[in-house]
Amino acid sequence: MIGSGPAGLEAARIAAIKGHDVTIMDRKDKIGGKMLLVKLRPGKDRLIDRWIAYYENEIERLNIKVELGKEVTVEMVEAFQPDITLVATGGKPLVPRAIKGADNKKVVAADDVLLDKVPVGQNVAIIGGSSLGVETADFILQDDSRKVTVFEMQRDVLMDISHDAELALLEDFLKKDIKFLTSTDVLKVVENKDKFNLQIRRYSHPDLITGFDTVVLACGVIPENQLGLALQKKMDNVFLVGDSETPGDFRKAVHDAAKACMKL
Ligand SMILES: Cc1cc2nc3c(=O)[nH]c(=O)nc-3n(C[C@H](O)[C@H](O)[C@H](O)COP(=O)(O)OP(=O)(O)OC[C@H]3O[C@@H](n4cnc5c(N)ncnc54)[C@H](O)[C@@H]3O)c2cc1C
Repeated sequence: MIGSGPAGLEAARIAAIKGHDVTIMDRKDKIGGKMLLVKLRPGKDRLIDRWIAYYENEIERLNIKVELGKEVTVEMVEAFQPDITLVATGGKPLVPRAIKGADNKKVVAADDVLLDKVPVGQNVAIIGGSSLGVETADFILQDDSRKVTVFEMQRDVLMDISHDAELALLEDFLKKDIKFLTSTDVLKVVENKDKFNLQIRRYSHPDLITGFDTVVLACGVIPENQLGLALQKKMDNVFLVGDSETPGDFRKAVHDAAKACMKL
């Protein structure tokens, strides 16, 4: 099993219940995958801790071996000689080609903001108003001297979560300096001295919004599948599950993994 996110952990659990001898490997030194990022957002830590504790128990109960801090390569898997390889290597942030300048090295990914890997200025633009973008705004606004504008191409933000979850999140913003620009396409990120300006089209009208210190991309995920595809060329019984197959959410990753393992 390569990857210890939701897909890898559930696949390992079901495979072990079905009597397979299972080893999980992950490049990180903790199990949990992207859920460790989810944990960093306000109010999510206890939920994720309980989820990880559940899998730690299952790993012990089912005698699953865990090897952490190991970047798995094709050569390592060949040397390991598994009968079956499940690849649950997750996804990576999408940099939309349609937005000119989005690939500027100074434009940062929401994941890196949540991990405190990059500095964030006072006036922040977030491109993408799904739960990832809006919860990243919540994280940034823990420092309430900052202001955030969220740009979303759809007619509303948070279209990917339930109405109750949406209300709970939006309530947090009542006293914060946040603006949502929906039905808005960001066309170009323009660097201007130390600032960024965004060329947009809103309800078909072009406009320029100026003066951002930081631009954050929260535009979705693409599969991290190079290892899985390379392994499939070299050996049989290699299956991609979770975001590495098709990006989705926690529930989809667990469901995919369970479904794949039921067939083993
Ligand atoms: C910031 C953020 C917030 C999110 N919030 C939510 C949410 O609130 N609700 C929800 O349902 N979903 C949320 N998601 C989506 C959810 O986290 C993912 O869909 C889910 O984690 C995918 O699970 P996975 O097991 O496929 O991959 P991941 O969780 O990405 O796990 C992949 C694992 O593979 C390891 N790996 C990759 N390559 C290698 C290699 N070569 N060698 C060794 N190890 C490797 C990685 O270290 C990682 O641990 C969020 C995602 C992000 C980024």
